[in-house]
Amino acid sequence: MRFVHETLPQRVRFATGESARAVAEEVEHLGARRVMLIASKDEAALAGPIASLLPVVRRHDEVVMHVPVEIARRARRAAADCEADILVSVGGGSTTGLAKAVAMTTGLPIVAVPTTYAGSEATNVWGLTEESVKRTGADPKVLPRSIVYDAGLLTGLPTMMAVASGLNAMAHCIDSMWGPRADPLDQVLAGEGIRRLALGLPRVKQGGPDIGGIEETLYGAYLAAVSFASAGSGLHHRICHVLGGMFDLPHAQTHAVVLPYVLAFNAPNAPEAERRIAEALDASSATAGLAALRATLDAPNSLKACGMPEEGITKAAGRILEAVPANNPTPATEDDIVRLLKAAWEGSEPS
Ligand code: NAD
Repeated sequence: MRFVHETLPQRVRFATGESARAVAEEVEHLGARRVMLIASKDEAALAGPIASLLPVVRRHDEVVMHVPVEIARRARRAAADCEADILVSVGGGSTTGLAKAVAMTTGLPIVAVPTTYAGSEATNVWGLTEESVKRTGADPKVLPRSIVYDAGLLTGLPTMMAVASGLNAMAHCIDSMWGPRADPLDQVLAGEGIRRLALGLPRVKQGGPDIGGIEETLYGAYLAAVSFASAGSGLHHRICHVLGGMFDLPHAQTHAVVLPYVLAFNAPNAPEAERRIAEALDASSATAGLAALRATLDAPNSLKACGMPEEGITKAAGRILEAVPANNPTPATEDDIVRLLKAAWEGSEPS
């Protein structure tokens, strides 16, 4: 057995119904006194009770998905102008992503309060978009120092967004089985993440304030992100990354659509991952288990419906091919990528 596993330094709190107090304690624990609170306009109501217990010097609500560089620049300027000594983000992956963009250049610590299942809060990965190209990188400065999960903040997440976001977390788990740095610890965390997501998501799909179902899904999403941060981006994330940047597609929905096609492509050459995924989904095979879960969830099923133009298939394939990790279980040719994208674009049966 030969591997190197790095555990990222971070506190995590599950505090259903108590996020305001928990965040105030985390900020105090870090010795901070001037909070820049980042939450989009749509997330302002969720952030309100949290802000009320904090020494907030500025509320910043200019949040845009995939963090365009201009938006990052303005947020960095705002942090400098108000002399913030900490960032508190309350929102989905886009909001966490903006806080990370500020932390990257200022070194300010982040306390993250996630309100979707995106998982950005548990990774040291940042993303910035410029001229339709999304760049990502890893930097210890952007890893939030603390995470506070409060299932009560997700009861109003629209069901279709919750399902897509939960499948984005599932994609973190599945890609962690064969990512470029995947190790046995990642596979254990990812397997348990898959199991928890498969238990929680059907409950979330029912809608309504099922706190237990949301907690289960949040816990799965956290495990997913921790394993993904260690294993690195596999084929699935490389594909979604290119598509997201090139066509400005909705992040969670794109992941939800592409995942079964990547699983079908890789599973035949990844028997250990296949066995773990099938076991976690309590199914006869990984692909059958994912298909059954997706059917229960009425999951998004075509890139066409996500807004990708058909001519984008050939445009994206070359760039994806360049990004395929060398250790991907199934070696990929440009024809393979085109076939996979075409099937995902149409929403036809994964094979
Ligand atoms: P998002 O943050 O854009 O949120 C989607 C929508 O849901 C927004 O309109 C938001 O206002 C709304 N929303 C969020 N929480 C809500 C709630 N509880 N109730 C009601 N509405 C709510 O989408 P996302 O999928 O969470 O994040 C996508 C972004 O995160 C992408 O830019 C992606 O690249 C990034 N991301 C980064 C990492 C990483 O490790 N760096 C990991 C995952 C995702």
